[in-house]
Amino acid sequence: MYLTLDLLFLNMAEIPISQLDRLRDLKRSTGGFLNLNPIQRGGILTPEARKAVLDWADGYSICDFCDGVLECIKKPPVDDFVHKTMTCFIGADHVRLTNGAREAMYMVMHAVCKPGDVLLLDANSHYSAHIAAERHNLWVYEIPNNGYPEYKINEELYADKIEEIKRKTKKNPALALITYPDGNYGNLPDARKIAKICSDYDVPLLVNAAYAMGRMPVSLKHLKADFIVGSGHKSMACSGPIGVLGLSESLSDVVLRKSKNYKNKEVEMLGCGPRGLPLITLMASFPKVYERVKHWDDEIKKARYFIDEIEKIEGIKQLGVKPTQHDLNFLETKVFHRISEKHKKGGFFLYRELKKRNIIGVKPGLSKNFKLSTYGFKKDEIKKIIEAFKEIVQIK
Ligand SMILES: *Cc1c(COP(=O)(O)O)cnc(C)c1O
Repeated sequence: MYLTLDLLFLNMAEIPISQLDRLRDLKRSTGGFLNLNPIQRGGILTPEARKAVLDWADGYSICDFCDGVLECIKKPPVDDFVHKTMTCFIGADHVRLTNGAREAMYMVMHAVCKPGDVLLLDANSHYSAHIAAERHNLWVYEIPNNGYPEYKINEELYADKIEEIKRKTKKNPALALITYPDGNYGNLPDARKIAKICSDYDVPLLVNAAYAMGRMPVSLKHLKADFIVGSGHKSMACSGPIGVLGLSESLSDVVLRKSKNYKNKEVEMLGCGPRGLPLITLMASFPKVYERVKHWDDEIKKARYFIDEIEKIEGIKQLGVKPTQHDLNFLETKVFHRISEKHKKGGFFLYRELKKRNIIGVKPGLSKNFKLSTYGFKKDEIKKIIEAFKEIVQIK
């Protein structure tokens, strides 16, 4: 006994103190900076959520009054939030919370597909959709986009591709997926049109709305798809990680089936969803998220204003469908690339120059092209960013 303990301590002694010290000082200072990073703009906490963090930060604090099902907890009001508020917010018959959008996509794939089945997805899909498919051993068929400069998904191609899959495999794809919008260009395909095509072929459709839910209005009922997936830390002003899965009645019994041995536990949920801060911050921010979605028009106007102004600079061009339909946009910035070729810092010059002007969120090293988001910025902040770009192109 003592011997094993001693051995354990010996083991632990190999951890250098300096490494522990580094863990004692986990500061992050982004205050005062304008952050252009698309993955971060929609996840900035509301003051309400920041306040709730203090009360609920302890592990399993949400379980004080749990009778075995997270979504049925009445205090705090998870039950109403999930079964009444969220279902209405996204027009779904059922809602479940997962540990992220990817987990929600995997959950659906795992429930409705068998290994070896075909998953049909769009070429603008997030890598995590591909990995989820890989984890469940699905064959992936892709709807191509139309390439440079639009990278647009033609909705009609879903019919052609389903026909092709039927010819080749003698059966339907088990599931189709559309990314709405995609995380590279912010293109918003007509998901309703795709849902109609898929439903005509009796193929269930999952709408990946990681960049939509919590930013813009979405409705599974309106789209007439079977599943919709959102990401709390991406687009719903919360810490996460947390995903939202909306289901229509159609296949909900398959995805939400209960365990044989643990009567109130759902198998695909592994018995429980995200318990703790991810959910508390999602709920605490929700009243503001509910309000902000109503102002999506203003976000588009702002994004278009930004693109219009920024494209006046020679050598900067927005790729993706025009005019932009989303706050996330992809810029091709040949002018910055030309500067980087002569600059002593190379591609890193852009990061440094932006930072000097209190702007962050463009990955260090990138200058040829990058994505950014204008979500939630005030008009004068947008103007500051435009001014910064105009100054930086003057650099020799
Ligand atoms: C960010 C993103 C994801 C992954 O979201 P998580 O909640 O972190 O799993 C999936 N799909 C798209 C389109 C995304 O932009």
